[in-house]
Amino acid sequence: MALRITEACVNCWACVTVCPNEAIAEDDPVFAIDPRKCTECTGEFAEPQCAAICPIECAIVDELEVALNPLGSLTGIPPETLRAHALS
Ligand code: SF4
Ligand code: SF4
Repeated sequence: MALRITEACVNCWACVTVCPNEAIAEDDPVFAIDPRKCTECTGEFAEPQCAAICPIECAIVDELEVALNPLGSLTGIPPETLRAHALS
């Protein structure tokens, strides 16, 4: 049970200090979560602290590759609007 940081990460460092298990470290090209250390914050916090502080949508996903901060969740821009502009 561990989360994963995707290539959407901008290496802002915000998640590193809030992780209770020191599971996040610098890597190339983006930060990485050590799956042996990540507990998804179970038993320590009500929600994964890295995803709670991450300012970038789709930068952290679960084991099913589902984004904890999906497209539009932080900006408030509906995903269909983003898709429409990406295609235009
Ligand atoms: S879910 Fe919790 S334990 Fe796992 S990397 Fe994020 S902050 Fe650390
Ligand atoms: S908070 Fe998000 S964008 Fe910043 S380093 Fe962590 S995963 Fe990357």
